[in-house]
Amino acid sequence: MAAVEKVGIVGSGASGLTAAVLLADAGIDVEILEKTDGPSTLGSGITLQGNALRIFKQLGIRDQMEAKGFAFSTLGLRAPDPDGTVLAVIDDIRTGGEDLPSTLGMNRPELADIVRGRAVDAGVRIRYSSHVTGVKDDGESVAAVLSDGATRHYDVLIGADGIHSRVRREIGIETEPESTGMGIWRAFVDRPEEVVRTDLTYGGRCYIAGYCPTGEHSMYAYLVEDAQDRHDVDGSRIMTELATSYGGPWNEIRKSLEAGARVNYTHFTAHLVDGPWNRGRTVIIGDAAHSCPPTIAQGAAMAVEDAAVLAELLIESDQLDDAVWQAFSARRLERAREVVEASVQLGQWMLDGVTDADVPGLLNRISNRVKEPA
Ligand SMILES: Cc1cc2nc3c(=O)[nH]c(=O)nc-3n(C[C@H](O)[C@H](O)[C@H](O)COP(=O)(O)OP(=O)(O)OC[C@H]3O[C@@H](n4cnc5c(N)ncnc54)[C@H](O)[C@@H]3O)c2cc1C
Repeated sequence: MAAVEKVGIVGSGASGLTAAVLLADAGIDVEILEKTDGPSTLGSGITLQGNALRIFKQLGIRDQMEAKGFAFSTLGLRAPDPDGTVLAVIDDIRTGGEDLPSTLGMNRPELADIVRGRAVDAGVRIRYSSHVTGVKDDGESVAAVLSDGATRHYDVLIGADGIHSRVRREIGIETEPESTGMGIWRAFVDRPEEVVRTDLTYGGRCYIAGYCPTGEHSMYAYLVEDAQDRHDVDGSRIMTELATSYGGPWNEIRKSLEAGARVNYTHFTAHLVDGPWNRGRTVIIGDAAHSCPPTIAQGAAMAVEDAAVLAELLIESDQLDDAVWQAFSARRLERAREVVEASVQLGQWMLDGVTDADVPGLLNRISNRVKEPA
């Protein structure tokens, strides 16, 4: 019998929902505490790599996802010239196994809808408007304290509450995300017919110009620049101006931007909680435990891998003791570290203007690493 009967999860993002499905499928009582008042309908696109798809396949939602998203297995490189000249098209490593595409682009709210639906079908209770502000562990059980003072008791509490994790702070882990020096503009736009994979352009007015198809008619486009204060600015106008360096599909993307496409701006951050991710009966996973710039699009993949490994260990173990947490660290910490460090390194080479960096070597090393099941 599993060591735990009742698990509380803080956060209904990719990591929280994935852990919830797997635990509930094993007969464990699972409750998610989510601070928002309902499912989010906003959000741009996301690039899901094969190793993330392997976990979603394990949840049994692969077909639903592929029906909504846009699958591809090559990566294009374009020049920052008026034609957007294609320099190379590379076969991507299928990190989730040969039966899965190397990449699936999706609209974030559609992805969340599918995983949330699967969790509800598995019997997971999602309590919205439940803002966790404290954690109390008495050795026998752990309580999540909500902003209205109410407490909810569990055998284990999983902090899947994202990059600014309150759970992380409440259990005394002081690691916080730090800016890596880059900022990203993202816009969700109509997909020009010629966009059938991610194409990246290095150089021009930005460090990186890229896009990812997310469905039959949709895609998201992004531009990476030096991190700066972009509050209270006209994002569509700035993104349109920055995009003037780029040709090919960017000509259509600029038209969508000029027509007022929704644009958002975020700084890249990185952090890794170095050491065990638990304190007593509380453990953090996903962005709560680590974050990285999306230079190799591995954030969500690492988050759902954490969730799957943790669920497997909690289901398999008949006692909740240090061996469980040691096994969790052994399987997650170094893998997450390699991904975070490589993601930061790629950005740093660009910030430092290094032109002879072994980018393909680094990308191959990480792809081969994450190709091994988590
Ligand atoms: C600009 C950018 C682009 C990215 N692009 C990609 C990409 O293309 N591919 C990729 O794999 N990854 C990408 N990532 C990373 C990816 O988005 C994250 O790694 C992933 O979403 C993390 O999921 P999570 O479940 O850990 O956290 P989140 O998705 O952040 O979920 C946390 C949840 O917890 C809830 N919550 C927070 N605090 C509380 C509280 N106190 N009480 C209750 N609920 C709470 C939140 O409302 C939220 O629902 C990108 C990240 C950024 C910043």
